[in-house]
Amino acid sequence: MEKQTLRQAKLFYNSFIILDSKEEGTKILLTKDEYLSGLSDFERSAKLQTSRPVSSEELMEFQAKQVIEWNEKEKENWENIIEELRTEFEKYEALTIPEQIFLVKTTGKDEGEAAYCRGMNGIFYPQSMDIKKSTLAHELWHIISRNMPTEKRDEIYSIFGFHSFGTPIDYPHQLLEYKISNPDAVNISHYLPIDLNATDSINITPIMYSKSKIFNPSFGQTFFNYLELGFLIVHKNDKNEWVPKLKPNSDENDFNSLELIPPQELPFQFWEKIGTNTNYIHHNEEITAENFMMMIVKDEPRTPKLIENLAKALKKKD
Ligand SMILES: [Zn+2]
Repeated sequence: MEKQTLRQAKLFYNSFIILDSKEEGTKILLTKDEYLSGLSDFERSAKLQTSRPVSSEELMEFQAKQVIEWNEKEKENWENIIEELRTEFEKYEALTIPEQIFLVKTTGKDEGEAAYCRGMNGIFYPQSMDIKKSTLAHELWHIISRNMPTEKRDEIYSIFGFHSFGTPIDYPHQLLEYKISNPDAVNISHYLPIDLNATDSINITPIMYSKSKIFNPSFGQTFFNYLELGFLIVHKNDKNEWVPKLKPNSDENDFNSLELIPPQELPFQFWEKIGTNTNYIHHNEEITAENFMMMIVKDEPRTPKLIENLAKALKKKD
């Protein structure tokens, strides 16, 4: 019997994107990972669009069932896009790209019609989304980033002003029931120091949470409609651990004890550091993915210096 070869397109020297990806994509979604185990009760119910409790197992099975096959036309579209990407990618020696990346089509019900990554080499793409070079470039950054040595990734994040916590910090317990997770960026791993004036400085890190801890399916919406973004002020406690800074005299179990800056109240010094190339500022990993995408598709950036620095860091292999 002849061995069936999988349809694939070359992305980078010895690396290929696999388009016959239903089997492998299903397998990736049936693998328990940090993302799945970290989801809140709210999120699991929201992803199944129900108000009843949903277990991790049930959600995992549900998401895996959403994997479908690309049709011939779609495969050809992707092959053309991947060929264009390859011309750009091969300029950057330091890209850490696994030999096989599975580009997986889904019904979109798995993650609220979003494209996302799972595992070390799975990109999941909803059928409702246009087949686009920019979206694939963004998601590919997440794969590159998770396959990158920690020091190199820290170097890249530092271009946008972020510093590593060393070990990721826990999601604040005061907000756990409201937690919203991102499969593309699972940990709270870095913070941004900001000098407000000559004497005052703060350290902030972006976190996502829900407006409500109960999902109401009668609104006919996805979890994205519940999504709030805040910038949590963190500091080192007397044990030298990074923790959220609490408001003085507050109840430490109440979420009102946290110092959370809404995006519209971020000081201008924040934008001086991360630049104004993107409004997708929900995580240092997402800021980087957007800038990487602009570098690859040659978008006109509003802060070109950051793209130049990113290109420089990705050109040299160290
Ligand atoms: Zn992303």
